[in-house]
Amino acid sequence: MPDDARNRSIPAGGDVFAPGFKDTPYWWEAAPRATAVPAAPPPATDVAIVGSGFTGLNAAIDLARAGRSVVVLDAEDLGHGASTRNAGYVGQTLKHSFRDLQNSRGDAYATAVYREMKAAFDAVAERVAIEQIDCGFRQGGRLILCKSRRQYDDVADEFARRKKHLGTEFAMLSAAEVRAEVPSDLYMGGLMVPSLGSIHPGLYHQGLLDRARASGVTLIGRTPVTAIDGDPGSFRVRTTMGETRARDVLVATNGYTGPLVPWLQRRIIPFDAYMIATEPLDPATVARILPHDRTYIDHVHDIISLRRSPDGTRLLFLWRTGTRPTTPREKGARLHADVSRIVPGFARLRIAHSWTGRCAGTFDLWPHLATHRGIHFAGGYCFAGLPMGTYLGRKAAARILDKAEAKTVFADLSFPTVPFCAGNPWFVPAVMRWYGMQDAWQSR
Ligand SMILES: Cc1cc2nc3c(=O)[nH]c(=O)nc-3n(C[C@H](O)[C@H](O)[C@H](O)COP(=O)(O)OP(=O)(O)OC[C@H]3O[C@@H](n4cnc5c(N)ncnc54)[C@H](O)[C@@H]3O)c2cc1C
Repeated sequence: MPDDARNRSIPAGGDVFAPGFKDTPYWWEAAPRATAVPAAPPPATDVAIVGSGFTGLNAAIDLARAGRSVVVLDAEDLGHGASTRNAGYVGQTLKHSFRDLQNSRGDAYATAVYREMKAAFDAVAERVAIEQIDCGFRQGGRLILCKSRRQYDDVADEFARRKKHLGTEFAMLSAAEVRAEVPSDLYMGGLMVPSLGSIHPGLYHQGLLDRARASGVTLIGRTPVTAIDGDPGSFRVRTTMGETRARDVLVATNGYTGPLVPWLQRRIIPFDAYMIATEPLDPATVARILPHDRTYIDHVHDIISLRRSPDGTRLLFLWRTGTRPTTPREKGARLHADVSRIVPGFARLRIAHSWTGRCAGTFDLWPHLATHRGIHFAGGYCFAGLPMGTYLGRKAAARILDKAEAKTVFADLSFPTVPFCAGNPWFVPAVMRWYGMQDAWQSR
């Protein structure tokens, strides 16, 4: 990279977008999406999987290696969904805190659930290690940033409980210690969890695709599944290119869930998340803003996150999840202004990528592994889909294979819906505004 590109900065009032700006994920630079050719699926298969993200591919690999014939179908290019668009945070946290679960269901239940969150994290680490996927996975730690004493005490209490029941190590950081990590005056302290990780999600996905192909999975992109009829043991899976008969079907469409299975669509709340990445920077500039290669997250409901790219040459920022879509340039400029208020040093850096992707929430804020009329489903990850997609994709495979290790707390839950919501999450911006108000109050 030429030095002048590394050191370019925005003059006051200048354009925040770098020359050659792209509205596609930064991750696609190292792991570009191959243009898929629509194709007819084979006339019959043991398992048909709808969706080629982390969930679908992790399931496909296990099923193919267990001797099943597997076809994965995606409406777009393979890996078009959130799996190659996310922030690459590999965590162990649910929307339900350990404390809330203790209070509502007792110590044993809270511990069982959070043991599975750890198992989901380990599922990523294990997949990457055993398959030797070169995707920058590392356990560099996560720092949770607190603006107020209320937030600081809240997160300290949550992790004291996790330490007692699960052994999770953590450290409380003073304002000065936080400032040595993130040059911002907004934070009065923070909590560091050294065991949490990060990954290059594009390269992780690419590794899964390669392993699935090598395991004999038939991978078909740009071929939407349009209907699933029939009964367990004999499904008719129709696509725009023809149909296949499948003994089992797994729907792994998460935030991209459409009307294919109306029962599922009524239970999934899709919402958009937004990210920006700077142009390549001098490593000294990156190190001045984030001296350590960790993941940073604000202690708020409305996730704000900042990290380095795995190669240390860029900064990546995420916020404004669930807000109304605009153009990538408009959203990118907004995020640039946001991050510059948090970390003033960002203000002079240009954006090379601004992109979006679809996540999925559920009405009970739990991820789910479910079976309805014989069709299996895993998703509704509420922002933890990198570990949970890996984990529940593998659990779904075990369920189809009728193995004992299919057992998980995420399959034991009822899967609620509410009237008048299918495919039209009109209430999401209002919910995010409500979270924003709560966050503002808790930040005082
Ligand atoms: C910007 C952003 C940041 C995020 N950050 C994080 C993070 O840091 N950590 C984390 O844990 N999670 C994060 N997430 C969430 C995480 O990325 C997702 O939960 C996860 O990737 C879901 O994987 P999946 O395989 O279930 O679905 P996806 O990867 O979304 O794949 C679903 C696929 O289904 C296909 N599809 C839909 N309908 C059909 C049909 N009818 N026929 C054929 N194909 C169909 C779609 O084309 C799509 O490719 C983030 C998400 C976004 C968008």
